[in-house]
Amino acid sequence: MEHVSSVTPRGPTHARTLLWFLVGNLVLLAADAYGYILAAGGAPWSTAWLFAHLALLSQIAVATLAVGLVLLLVGGVGGWRWLAVLAPAVATLLNLYVYVDRSVFAFYRFHLAWLELQALAMPGGLAALRVEPSAPLLFAAVVALLFLAELLAFRLLRRRCAARVVEGAGVRRRWLAFAGVVGLLAVSDHVLYAASDLADARDVLRGARLVPFYQPFTIERLVRRHGETVAVASESSAGLPHYPQAPLRFAETARRPNVLWVVIDSWRADALSAENTPRIWNLAERSQVFDEHMSGGNSTQFGTFSMFYGLWASAEPTFAAEHRGPVLFDALKERGYRIEVLSSLELSLADFRRGLFVGVQDDVVALPGPRAADRDRQIRERFEAQLPERPDAPPFFAVAIMQSTHSGYDFDEADAPYRPYAPWVGFRGLGAGELQLHVYNRYRNAVHYADRLVGEMVDALERRGLLDDTIVLVTGDHGEEFDEHGYWGHNGAFTPEQVHVPLVLFVPGLAGRHRQGLTSHLDLPATVLGLLGVTNGPSDYSLGRSLLGVQADPYAIACSADECALVDGVQTVTFGLGIRGPAGIQVMDADYQPIHASAAGRTKRSRQLLALLARESTFLK
Ligand SMILES: [Zn+2]
Repeated sequence: MEHVSSVTPRGPTHARTLLWFLVGNLVLLAADAYGYILAAGGAPWSTAWLFAHLALLSQIAVATLAVGLVLLLVGGVGGWRWLAVLAPAVATLLNLYVYVDRSVFAFYRFHLAWLELQALAMPGGLAALRVEPSAPLLFAAVVALLFLAELLAFRLLRRRCAARVVEGAGVRRRWLAFAGVVGLLAVSDHVLYAASDLADARDVLRGARLVPFYQPFTIERLVRRHGETVAVASESSAGLPHYPQAPLRFAETARRPNVLWVVIDSWRADALSAENTPRIWNLAERSQVFDEHMSGGNSTQFGTFSMFYGLWASAEPTFAAEHRGPVLFDALKERGYRIEVLSSLELSLADFRRGLFVGVQDDVVALPGPRAADRDRQIRERFEAQLPERPDAPPFFAVAIMQSTHSGYDFDEADAPYRPYAPWVGFRGLGAGELQLHVYNRYRNAVHYADRLVGEMVDALERRGLLDDTIVLVTGDHGEEFDEHGYWGHNGAFTPEQVHVPLVLFVPGLAGRHRQGLTSHLDLPATVLGLLGVTNGPSDYSLGRSLLGVQADPYAIACSADECALVDGVQTVTFGLGIRGPAGIQVMDADYQPIHASAAGRTKRSRQLLALLARESTFLK
């Protein structure tokens, strides 16, 4: 009679070993991942508690299963002996990733991105990322020990498995059972997420932020109607208890001037001129004009977020998920302002109602009509019609978001000084040379049109004697590029054309002047709240400062969905946010041409960015 184990094929034995090895590591990873829940302060038993645990466990299980399947494939194709080293190595890396990610998360409230991964390699990187032990040698020793333990564990398991009869069918059944459990976990956490999303259970959805690489699954679009009113929970700041960091206080003698806040979509810096915008130019002569003003984003959503919150626009998804509007609107309501948001935006308004305008959504008026120029004209009409007749009427805070200047560029053909202009703008390939000029002319005609409407709104204020008591702010949500640096439109890069915007700030009683030096949309809340008599320091509620006090910012930050740029007048440094963002730091000169930064230069930039991110994250905890 033959000895059975000697003929047991190697495949099933290894597949079985690998399975137990993965299950062991899954337990280890899950225990470590509990650190995410502790970092978030834990939570009492609730659906939110259940979801956070389930989502973390399912995410880790899915990652483990995926690793296992790849290893099975490698074993089957490349030979089983590789597994003895490869499996422990991969398991060590997986554990290392979760450990470092949760350490970073505990302090910064975001998951590892390329910036942090790069920073790991720089001197002092572990300390900067708050990873213990922060001494590199000690850290390397701990990793080496872990790897040894994994190696040993794999060996022991294989010896155990080899000592018994292992049949292929039995092993396959166990693997299928493992995959089935993992699949069940993944399905149940995503169903729970979708249900919580429908029920708008924000405390549950918040749990997804703890999970690295979490892919939310929603059926919202099937169920919810476009632009439907969003319920504002009474404890709207529950998910962001550190925003603001202290309640706002007002000086007792604070006045309540009116505010007109005009956002001209895609208005780039050089489209403010005596020729292109004569009416705003006229206002500018009596205003503070900021010559080096940067948007906090290169898209409508992110640029607008930055100007009303005074925070990095990368926080937009978090604030939208929490339905947390800016403290600016809280303050205005508290001070008895009549708020009115007149907008000719179409598509993104539904998103704005969930985040930026959630607290004032009843005051948002979306003007109707297929043509942007027509909607913008209605903004002017509505603004005029709503102007207070009586001197004892409450002060107003009017936001006008004008869209004529958005790609498509709409205007009054009877008043189009820039000719010839392109009859329309295609989606791509706007062309070069003459066509480029014609498209640019179309854009400038649209800016000219918006200028006329803004001029008429200022005239209306003047006619009624209201201008002496009204702050007027006119700016762009972001710029617009016409291939100057290889891009068209906006949302493509952080070129000067896309982020450098005009800022005209009319403050009654303040003599007009041009102000040189870098400034940012992030400074706008502190500037306006300062004028309204808020006595808190700006750092209580924003990352900006008052533009009337400070000459220049040392840098400006602009963000898109997965990338940010630091602009400091000399260089632009772009860096990815989140692991799906672009890899690493890119340094561009003042003309947005990539330059090769030395290792020391990159290290310095990494340190600077991490310090800035740490400050930003104080509002997100
Ligand atoms: Zn825009």
